[in-house]
Amino acid sequence: MKLEEALEQAIKEVPDFPQPGISFKDITPLLLDQKLVHEVLLALLEPVEKLNPTHIAAIESRGFLFGFMMAKELGLPFIPVRKSGKLPRQKLTESYSLEYGTATVEVHREDIPSGARVVIHDDLLATGGTAIAACNLIQQAGAQGLAFSFLLELSFLQGREKLLKHGKVFSLLKYHN
Ligand code: AMP
Repeated sequence: MKLEEALEQAIKEVPDFPQPGISFKDITPLLLDQKLVHEVLLALLEPVEKLNPTHIAAIESRGFLFGFMMAKELGLPFIPVRKSGKLPRQKLTESYSLEYGTATVEVHREDIPSGARVVIHDDLLATGGTAIAACNLIQQAGAQGLAFSFLLELSFLQGREKLLKHGKVFSLLKYHN
């Protein structure tokens, strides 16, 4: 079976969660199958490795699952991009708009050296707002957001078009509606 098909079967779509109209993509069944996890990890790494990144950043919290494994596998430093108020030391902060209200992401300032070439990973690309905020944090540090890596992409929300202004975009499975 192709990886895309296996991944599609492993992801559970939950209608109207966490609110009416949203089809939530639950990746937790994938985590039960370590053989598939390994194949997914290799597929995530394949395009990223070629770019010679110096760091892997990932977005709290589902982004940490594969993002940290990517960094570990490549032997690169891992940068956790956290939600507001979680990091204890000197931080960089970026706020962005959600459908209702705003959200904030933060990194420890000293995690990102200027000139770093950073790949940003998250589980899912929807509108792209979160990933762009993470990229802005990296730019605030004088580093470069080279590329964005996702397991899943909601292509009908056209987040990819926004992200392509900042770097390359890779995803393993696209949902077209
Ligand atoms: P966005 O900033 O709109 O690209 O949203 C991406 C973030 O929201 C990611 O961290 C996802 O984990 C989460 N997210 C958005 N939509 C969904 C969805 N339909 N299913 C699961 N997670 C989602």
